[in-house]
Amino acid sequence: MARPDDRPLRRLPQLAPRKATLERCVFCPKLCRSACPVSNAEPRETLTPWGKMSMAYFTANESVALAPSFAEPAWACTGCFGCREHCDHHNDVTGTLFAARSALVEAGEGPASAKRVLERFTESSAALGKMAADPRVASSVDDGAKVAVLVGCEHARRGTEGGVDTVRAVARLTGSKVALVNVCCGAPLLYAGDHTRFVQQGERIAKELERRERVVVGDAGCAAALRVHHAEAGVKMPVPVEHFSELAARELGKLGRLDGELASGPVRWHDPCQLGRGLGVYDAPRQVLSRALGRAPDEFERRREDARCSGAGGLLPVTMPDIASKIAEQRLDDHDRSGGGTIVTACASSMRSFEKRGTGTVLDLATVVMRALEAAERGEP
Ligand code: SF4
Ligand code: SF4
Repeated sequence: MARPDDRPLRRLPQLAPRKATLERCVFCPKLCRSACPVSNAEPRETLTPWGKMSMAYFTANESVALAPSFAEPAWACTGCFGCREHCDHHNDVTGTLFAARSALVEAGEGPASAKRVLERFTESSAALGKMAADPRVASSVDDGAKVAVLVGCEHARRGTEGGVDTVRAVARLTGSKVALVNVCCGAPLLYAGDHTRFVQQGERIAKELERRERVVVGDAGCAAALRVHHAEAGVKMPVPVEHFSELAARELGKLGRLDGELASGPVRWHDPCQLGRGLGVYDAPRQVLSRALGRAPDEFERRREDARCSGAGGLLPVTMPDIASKIAEQRLDDHDRSGGGTIVTACASSMRSFEKRGTGTVLDLATVVMRALEAAERGEP
């Protein structure tokens, strides 16, 4: 017998396949609440995983009005998968809230900042072309190469050392020049709330990859977009997709030992949410850092499956910048309490958030690998 209050999700019918997932949270005593970086930084019930899922559910079944106060909590999520790790049901809050964003945008709701991301997507994703024009990567690139590299728009837009080192290091690790992928993975569309264009972007990138044998992805967020989110949407990539850390871990013998300042102080690995909980890749970056440093990297107190988010995912720095900054500050305080030193990660958005404080060194894993490759060339073991 149906529950007396069981109402169809008439207003947002796109969420019907997610009804059971939404209800699991709605009727839950919020067992995962301590895992959410957003409600930890801004303690409001509507910002807990339970609150966000409940707002989406009650908006969908017309229990509440279609209004910003009920719609916008769906954007208060970094997509960190932290709640799923602390949930007995392994409930897919991340995917459901991304689906809710898209349904809400279609219904005319959503933060103005997210809508601006959707309007400017074509222009901002053109940043990938900047990497191809960067003279620092020219000797590593050949458009006819079989191995493709996707550095990620955030690296490309800012011309980061991490992006450049990703291209150069993949060429050295594979022993051949690489082709640059100039098509964005579409993650900004997923996060902002346009699932249809996200899928179309996945199809474009799949088409682009048909000419290659495999693709190595620098930014953990882009790797998760291709391997997790596009796969869930039914878009299959035609070649194997690997994260940079996985390639580097297979080629450990090519890395030498770092010396100087970097090797002498603490070097702490920050698990990017998309690489760790998203793709289940925890060991590869630690193996790479252990080889380059000659010892295991330093760790955050909470790490691996329990690692804490930087606040930089899911467009939170765009839609809720104050909360995103607060989360990044909390992670930097965690880092200082653990002994400080250099932070190494593989998420361009996290790097940008950590760098905002302007203290300490933050490096992409590719930069450490590039220095270790150069150490090996100098004959250092
Ligand atoms: S994710 Fe799991 S623990 Fe968290 S509110 Fe939903 S059902 Fe409860
Ligand atoms: S995925 Fe992360 S940010 Fe989103 S609700 Fe869950 S714990 Fe919070």
